[in-house]
Amino acid sequence: AAKEGGRGRCEYFAPWLGERNRRLVSIEQALRDALRRGELCLHWQPRVDIEGWQVVSAEALLRWRHPELGHISPAEFIPVAEKCGVIGEIGAWVLTQACIEAQALLTGLSVSVNVSPVQLMRPTMLDDVRRALQASGLAPHRLEVEITEGIFIDDTPEALANLHALKDLGVQIALDDFGTGYSSLAYLRRFPFDTMKIDRAFMRELLNQHDARAIVRTIVDLAKVLGMRTVAEGVEEPAQLEILRRAGCQDMQGYLVARPMPVAELHDLMAHWHLHARPEPGELPLSL
Ligand code: C2E
Ligand code: MG
Ligand code: MG
Ligand code: MG
Repeated sequence: AAKEGGRGRCEYFAPWLGERNRRLVSIEQALRDALRRGELCLHWQPRVDIEGWQVVSAEALLRWRHPELGHISPAEFIPVAEKCGVIGEIGAWVLTQACIEAQALLTGLSVSVNVSPVQLMRPTMLDDVRRALQASGLAPHRLEVEITEGIFIDDTPEALANLHALKDLGVQIALDDFGTGYSSLAYLRRFPFDTMKIDRAFMRELLNQHDARAIVRTIVDLAKVLGMRTVAEGVEEPAQLEILRRAGCQDMQGYLVARPMPVAELHDLMAHWHLHARPEPGELPLSL
């Protein structure tokens, strides 16, 4: 690999790399320019209160369309951005852009922004959030930061300090992908989470594994005891929704209601929300 083009920039000629690694290297190089070239944008997925059936907030999800590689999933490029150090710049852009779009078009909704564990540990994290709030005029209590459960393996003091500082600003904190990582009860009590997002993996099992329902009920009860709101991720079937409702889960997101979409489309969806009644479950596949 030959270094070229200034600090932090690598051009590779590496025939020994496999195809997968070559793709990662070209993603890394392209990612550094993606922001400048305006290739990044946000899509929004609504979060709906299951009992009242209202849209209560929306989650900003990053989208990248590369001119040659086409659409690249954040699940693929966020880890690359974390490794090559460009996550700070991208994360700051997402925060500001999300707050601006929400303040302009998502009146009355809270806004969820995914924050990478790497970003959370950076000393500039707090300034990024303050700048986003200032630039947009969004009230701090309307902003929620989603942090994926994986980080709590490391449990760094920097991350903990930043979480508490965010809370002091009035920002809400959600634990994303709960049930896939390693959170212990001690962590759940020590970290100042407002919201627990139950991972999509549980939704698949809800329909055919009886114990999955008991597990989800237990997660919801646990969250309640700890004073957290619960959100089910990846809800696709009316039967899943009904099981979640009976378990006392407060909110849901998923294709059953809407896929992530541009902010203007979400604005339209909300204007016509009265047409979206809660889907009826019909017969549940297993009796409760
Ligand atoms: P996440 O935060 O857990 O977001 C939920 C993912 O599930 C999104 O994928 C969403 O499109 C997808 N999803 C929502 N409802 C359903 C459903 O009913 N069925 C199925 N099969 N999928 C559903 P997406 O947008 O590809 O994002 C993947 C992950 O990438 C996110 O998981 C998040 O961890 C990360 N990510 C996305 N945007 C950002 C960002 O701006 N910053 C950071 N740091 N990470 C981001
Ligand atoms: Mg999320
Ligand atoms: Mg995630
Ligand atoms: Mg998630």
